[in-house]
Amino acid sequence: MSYLKGFLVTFRQIFQKRVTTPYPEEKRAKPERLHGRHVLGRYEDGMEKCIGCELCAGVCPANCIYVRGADNPTDNPVSPGERYGFVYEINYLRCIHCDLCVEACPTGAITESKMFEFSFTNRNDAIYTREELLVDSESGKPKQLPWEDWREGEDLDTSGWLRATSPNGDASYEGQIAWSGDLGYGIRKAEIGQSDTKTPEEEQ
Ligand code: SF4
Ligand code: SF4
Repeated sequence: MSYLKGFLVTFRQIFQKRVTTPYPEEKRAKPERLHGRHVLGRYEDGMEKCIGCELCAGVCPANCIYVRGADNPTDNPVSPGERYGFVYEINYLRCIHCDLCVEACPTGAITESKMFEFSFTNRNDAIYTREELLVDSESGKPKQLPWEDWREGEDLDTSGWLRATSPNGDASYEGQIAWSGDLGYGIRKAEIGQSDTKTPEEEQ
């Protein structure tokens, strides 16, 4: 009769609230600061934020970033700095999504989206190039590659979490936007848990 007790346990679960979802048909809401696939940002005028300084590559504990900087062409500069990253690659077979690269970047050029659903059928696809990582120069939105599972709205908050990073760790900066607006999105709202956020222009 002990097996009947087993059935009873199973039967009772039918009336419990379901805690799983039929993934991937249905995705659960992602946490505000989930670390996903990186993007390389641009300024509002389309210029690339990356100045090829290689700090992100230097800090990466998984050695998965390869950057090479070059002097900007004087007649057609790529970035506002002296130099730009003419080679930029991230190897997603190695990345552990720690975001130290994001913390290290002096210009806020590299940020992470929340999109982590990407799988490859060859190793070359796992190495994202600068062209693939750069946001679209017109829309300012991440390029959505064929093997990536982007759903509606997942391009939002691509760099939103950066805005919670207090300059120099000073808590009095909490809630203040310390970074310029994103191409394609403008200034984003504060995250849950942050105090009411004002843009530097609104503060004046
Ligand atoms: S998230 Fe971490 S492991 Fe991935 S590229 Fe950045 S520093 Fe390297
Ligand atoms: S992404 Fe940032 S840290 Fe990395 S090379 Fe470009 S400017 Fe430097």
